[in-house]
Amino acid sequence: MLVYNTLVRRKQTFKPLSDREVGVYTCGPTVYWFAHIGNMKSYVSEDVIKRTLMHSGYKVKHVMNITDVGHLVGDANIGEDKVKMEARKEHKSALDVSRFYTHAFIEDMERLNIIKPDVICKATDHIPEMLALVKKLDEKGYLYKVETGMYYDTSKFKDYGALAGMDFEKLNKYLKAGARVERAAGIRNTTDFAVWRFSNSEEKEMVWDSEWGRGFPGWHIECSAMSMKYLGNHFDIHMGGIDHIPVHHTNEIAQSEGATGEKFVNYWMHMAFLKVDGKKMAKSLGNVYTIKELVEKGFDPIAVRLLFISGHYRQELNFTIESLKGMTNTLSMLYSFIDRMNGVLKSGGGSKDKAFMEFVDKSRKGFFSAMEDDFSTPEALASMYSLVRESNKRAESGMGAEEARHVIDVMLEFDSILGLEFDKRLSRTDKLSEEVEKLIKERNEARKHKDFAEADRIRRVLKEKGVTLEDTAHGTVWKSSD
Ligand SMILES: [Zn+2]
Repeated sequence: MLVYNTLVRRKQTFKPLSDREVGVYTCGPTVYWFAHIGNMKSYVSEDVIKRTLMHSGYKVKHVMNITDVGHLVGDANIGEDKVKMEARKEHKSALDVSRFYTHAFIEDMERLNIIKPDVICKATDHIPEMLALVKKLDEKGYLYKVETGMYYDTSKFKDYGALAGMDFEKLNKYLKAGARVERAAGIRNTTDFAVWRFSNSEEKEMVWDSEWGRGFPGWHIECSAMSMKYLGNHFDIHMGGIDHIPVHHTNEIAQSEGATGEKFVNYWMHMAFLKVDGKKMAKSLGNVYTIKELVEKGFDPIAVRLLFISGHYRQELNFTIESLKGMTNTLSMLYSFIDRMNGVLKSGGGSKDKAFMEFVDKSRKGFFSAMEDDFSTPEALASMYSLVRESNKRAESGMGAEEARHVIDVMLEFDSILGLEFDKRLSRTDKLSEEVEKLIKERNEARKHKDFAEADRIRRVLKEKGVTLEDTAHGTVWKSSD
């Protein structure tokens, strides 16, 4: 399997640290508001990567954090805590705000059929681990104290900035150019950051005592502390949005490797941004969507998922309502295809064409080799669509049940990675056909006994289920409009 590693800026053959388990950490949300579709796109891409690892036989241990304290508004170092700020606006406690949006986030993950991480860890539950890490860094001489908190002197960490492909000087210049606010007094380098911030906030769930003073953790320290707690000092894969490269992930490396003296992560993987209508998402442009909003507009979240994976995870994707409508059609085409193959399977018999069976195998191979080459979903999907096209053609010229079985099995195997719920569709149609067949039988009975009122009632019940009946010379046939 080939994986593009940001650290070396090229694809590398994936070699896990242990053959028992692959450790994967993904940076989770800051729970002060609903996650927008740009955030959710990253989580879907990460889910597809994880599912591919699982399909290739790796046992994955997946850890994701929930930032419920310490993430400041605006510049990386000055400003108010995002969760606290929203709590004040909503006249709620910070704990209520973080609980509410954590729940909303998990709901979004479920809607998008993202496999739940093995460990979901909240920052506020891991303050002792963070303080232990701060202590180690302090003992090793990486920290200095200013009025606002304990800061990491980034000039002391060898290779600081390597993940961003910059040296210390260059990264300092780069961040200075992008800074929007003044820095707190006494800070030595633009890249220096707080590992512990002093605060006398009244809200007791948001401040903790420490030997350096009462306060709360910096944002970056939580990911270092929690990833190492659950995955060990050195683990396989760390993922997150591309925006985390120059600050958040760069600082995670400085903290973790500074404290342990060991290598922190082998493969760093970053998800590209999502644009909306060709523009960067911004509240001021009114183009920030949430999954909940799209569901309320009547879109199937699985169609959103299909749209997210239609592009490569390292390529920027443009989201438009039009493109989502297109994906909705594509998804329903795929579901009808599953129904059709299921119909062929159920009708039994038919022939088995060797060339066709080989074509199915070739498509399967094409799909998985694309996924194992740095998770190329566009190429993998192209293999699937060509399988759908050829199978539809074959169905017209007399496909056999055995062929349909093979196509369905391969489609389900694709879906173990794509997560488009083909399995649910299959069981839904099976269940529906059972129900419909039973009702049709009852209706035929009623008609035989000239109970036309009952026959009409059954027809209406079926209509409500989206099923229309047609009485032909060969009996009653039915069609599902959904
Ligand atoms: Zn993180």
